[in-house]
Amino acid sequence: MNPPRKSKFFLDCLNRACKATGGVDIAYSAETAGIISKIVSALPGVIHELEAFYACKGPSQISIFVYPDITAMSQAFGRELQGEQWCFVPIKGEHSLITFTAKLKQDSIPRVLIHEFSHIYFSRITGNQDVGNYRQSIPLWLDEGIALHLDSKFRHNLEQVLRKRCNALKSPHGYFPKLMDLYTYFNRLDEDEFGIKAEMAYSFSYFCVQDLIEQFGSEHLIAFINKPDLANNFTHLFKSHFNSSLPEFNYAMTKKYGGAAKDSPVDS
Ligand SMILES: [Zn+2]
Repeated sequence: MNPPRKSKFFLDCLNRACKATGGVDIAYSAETAGIISKIVSALPGVIHELEAFYACKGPSQISIFVYPDITAMSQAFGRELQGEQWCFVPIKGEHSLITFTAKLKQDSIPRVLIHEFSHIYFSRITGNQDVGNYRQSIPLWLDEGIALHLDSKFRHNLEQVLRKRCNALKSPHGYFPKLMDLYTYFNRLDEDEFGIKAEMAYSFSYFCVQDLIEQFGSEHLIAFINKPDLANNFTHLFKSHFNSSLPEFNYAMTKKYGGAAKDSPVDS
């Protein structure tokens, strides 16, 4: 079995490889073998949930790199990474990669896998491969909200997590996320200055997607992300598909989750 050595995130220490459900390649090092059996046994359930939700077969060519620790993962990324529990999904071209360290808590493996795999499915369906795109042709809140919706099924402490998300949105900082320009703070949870805003971004994204699913059903949401030309026409298609404009939906959700809702939906 050949791990994708061509990837720029590959390190020589990832000298073992195996193939799991769905043709997923896993590359790891000898000392991390313990976690690999957990990943291999979690994958069938995770892929089953994803295929049912997205109503499609998973993309081929997914690799998982399990680095021994954060030092190795930082070396692979060429910058100092903070969280031992963090995961990354550099999606480029046909080949998708999920990376994490062998220090990942074993009971969080299914949740982490479904969340990161969701980003890959989402990007394949919508054609959106540029996750840091400030132009927001396909907004990150939708991508992250769906990933959080799916990973909820694998959280043992969901009630506690939801309380924390509600409280994050009530934080008295005079700031409340706005869907139309919510792209800056994702992935910045570990930064002192932006951590709380990052938490709000994820929380609000989760509640907005949850609301769309409760109102319209997940099939309606999936029909939306499958629309051709979504990236060029997001705002218009959102309005016709969900019967309210993005600013109107943002306004309703802001009111529901405790924001000051100062902006009227018409001028925002
Ligand atoms: Zn995510």
